[in-house]
Formats: sequence, structure tokens, C-alpha cells
Amino acid sequence: MNQIEQMFLLQMQLNDQTNGQVWIKGYTKENREISWYRGIYMEVAEAIDSFNWKHWKNINDEPDWDNIRVELVDIWHFGLSELIRSNRLDDQVGFALSEVDAAAEPDPDALRLAIEALAESSLRTRSFEMAPFIEAMSALSLSVTELFKLYVGKNVLNQFRQNNGYKDGSYRKIWQGREDNEHLVDLLARLDVAASEVPNALYRQLEAIYVR
Ligand code: MG
Ligand code: MG
Repeated sequence: MNQIEQMFLLQMQLNDQTNGQVWIKGYTKENREISWYRGIYMEVAEAIDSFNWKHWKNINDEPDWDNIRVELVDIWHFGLSELIRSNRLDDQVGFALSEVDAAAEPDPDALRLAIEALAESSLRTRSFEMAPFIEAMSALSLSVTELFKLYVGKNVLNQFRQNNGYKDGSYRKIWQGREDNEHLVDLLARLDVAASEVPNALYRQLEAIYVR
């Protein structure tokens, strides 16, 4: 199984569990309309907030690179869902991903513009386009291998959130003073198991440190 097939299966599993299998028709088992494109531009806002874009506050802060990567992976969750829903997850997606150029050192100004182009695309099409996503990955120097690793990790965290009260609002996102996403990045860096064992091992480690 290649990485796209694995991500497809993981996204199907997460969406089926979270929304029921009707999600593919554009609404949830609670009969709520699904707007993946809205999720995309809101995650763009989270990514932009990881730069010190405010000219009046903490003006010398460095960009939070780890979080920018996590937000791009959040965008990929929604983008992947929209590709599946609209029946466009095909060989073209694999071809597009193979075009990512992760060689250059990220330039914050160019990266912000590339990420904002994703918001523009989502608002214009009310859907998801691969081309601006590939541009954003390249501008961030995020390789397909890194995307895959972070995607699997965030997928596990999203399942963990759902199993711990994310929908009814009882889930707590801050553990020991840090966002769950930050714990995720740390755990992923320290996980020393074969790729196929990552989901279960990571889930157990999240459980061990989650403060209820
Ligand atoms: Mg965030
Ligand atoms: Mg996010």
C-alpha cells in the first residue's frame, strides 16, 4: 500500500467515526452540513497566526515552524476529505505531490503568501485545489515523507480527541500548559518504532499524558 492509499484509509476511518458514513454526501449523522472549504481557510488563519504578523505585538518573535507544519497538515485533513467527497483522489494527486520541491530554506514572507493563496482558492472554489497546496508545501520545505508522518500523527490525535469528548466540548486541549499539538510533535520525534506501529504506540502515549 502506498502512502496516499494509507492516508485515504485513515481519513475515511476518521470521518466515518466522527460523522458517520453519510459524510460522503456532505452532511453528518447529526444532520449538520459539512463545509471542508471553510475548515481550510480557518486553518490558514491558524497557520498565519504562527508568524509574528502583528506589527504591534511581540514583534521580534520567530515563526512557530512546528505549528505551521501542523496547521498545513490540518489543511491536508480537510483537503483530503474534500478530494474524497468530490471523487478526485486519483493518480493526479500522487503526481502533484511528487512535484513538491522541499529543497529551499523557507522564506517567511513568501510562505505567508503561499498559505494565503490556499485561503483564496478555498473561498473562490468552495472546495480544495492541489496546486496551491503543493506551492505551500514547497514554500514550507515540507517533503511528502514529512507530510505523511505528521498526517498519521495528527490523524491519531484527532481520533484521540473524538474519543475524549471533542464533540460535546469536554475535551481539554492544554496539557501541562502546552497545546496537545505540541505534545504530539514531541512524541512523534521520540517515537522509535516501525512505521506500521506508530498509530497504536502514539495513541497509548497520548493516553498516558492526557490530563482529564
Ligand atoms: Mg492550531
Ligand atoms: Mg489547526
